[in-house]
Amino acid sequence: MTSVHELIREAAEREAAGRAAAARAPRGRPAGAPHRRPIALRATGASSCDAGLSSDPWAIDRGPGYGPGASAADAIPGDAPRQGPLPERYTSATEEQLHDWIAAAKEALGSRVQILGHFYQRDEIVQHADFVGDSFMLAQAAKQHPEAEAFVFCGVHFMAETADILSGPEQAVILPNLAAGCSMADMATIDQVEQCWRELTAALGEENGGSGLQPVIPVTYMNSSAAIKAFCGRNGGIVCTSSNARTVLEWAFARGQRVVFFPDQHLGRNTAKAMGIGEEQMPLWRPHLPLGGNTAEQLREARVILWNGFCSVHKRFTVAQIEQARAEHPGVRVIVHPECPAAVVEAADGAGSTEYIRKEIEAAAPGTVIAVGTEINLVNRLQQQRPDLTVFCLDPVVCPCSTMYRIHPAYLAWTLESLLAGETPNRIVVDGTVAADSRVALERMLAARP
Ligand code: SF4
Repeated sequence: MTSVHELIREAAEREAAGRAAAARAPRGRPAGAPHRRPIALRATGASSCDAGLSSDPWAIDRGPGYGPGASAADAIPGDAPRQGPLPERYTSATEEQLHDWIAAAKEALGSRVQILGHFYQRDEIVQHADFVGDSFMLAQAAKQHPEAEAFVFCGVHFMAETADILSGPEQAVILPNLAAGCSMADMATIDQVEQCWRELTAALGEENGGSGLQPVIPVTYMNSSAAIKAFCGRNGGIVCTSSNARTVLEWAFARGQRVVFFPDQHLGRNTAKAMGIGEEQMPLWRPHLPLGGNTAEQLREARVILWNGFCSVHKRFTVAQIEQARAEHPGVRVIVHPECPAAVVEAADGAGSTEYIRKEIEAAAPGTVIAVGTEINLVNRLQQQRPDLTVFCLDPVVCPCSTMYRIHPAYLAWTLESLLAGETPNRIVVDGTVAADSRVALERMLAARP
């Protein structure tokens, strides 16, 4: 079977040949060896969702927006961090040069610097990572290495914040490209959340009906800013991951009459539905409308108030894709991430976190055909790890996370060589009070039991 890596390379070579642009190639870049990498295409020849995916990220960094990929149409906050220009040494390097520079710098830095790679990162980043995992696994990896002076976090901004909160004060957490945010996390700003809280408090009052329960408990998904985790810590709330969302909701219902869940409506809805809560008890809070677009009565009747946020990668999966997979591959097992819409989760054979998806594929009998509803880089890597299975992404259009895609080897090479030179670029620092309050919400999560 042709590996995804080969597909990427072939696509890059075809593009390079088609352009016949050797003469116009930027100075210092050998003709025919661009480091531009069109995103992996499935063997079916499927297309990608955005032609801009073949652009170098430093071309995208100049403009506002999340860049090409799944979040391209999402509104980016005006104050989202921008990445400054990269030195030409990196933008004109070949893939092979970047690989060699990263490897050499990493070796020279030794255990002083740890590279953390998210599951959704491209292969040419993951191959250099000391740890690969989801956001919380990586933040914990940071906590478990007190000897390291710096962690280079190849993920997105909120993940680097969490790693900074959990790591030691002398340890630096670095995001190689500051433009690597998360459109879902950005859908709930601290100002909007505080406004929501004021309105909820006014609508629900202090009334607890003699139950002793708080009127509402704030719960935030890990995929949120440190400011919102801190808000939850200050207000009797808690953080959850996609692995423990049900346990966390049970913890919250033991302390409150209802929950307000930030920022992913789909994880909140899917978890609450699995607990037997009806849709009519899950109003959606739209942050630009008074009372989130609800009546006070609807809020009083609510069990889970869902923030109107979503992941644009997982929102792309549909029931029609599942039906197509079943028609084309009778007996296929369909597993999806709980950030997918509820109808998709219901139509699938199973739903769960990245860890659940990994374990399902690890445990599958040889020959099993599995369609997966999650990010394409992870799905492709899982197929590579189990060549005796057929594993494919439900979405026939290749559409990666726009912001994970911003971590290109050129940024990693620049970051590591800067560290070697005694500089600390792109350090992510969470304010002391915010970090302390966030830790309260994270520790509640770690202590929560089913
Ligand atoms: S996959 Fe979705 S939730 Fe994860 S970083 Fe990308 S936009 Fe954010």
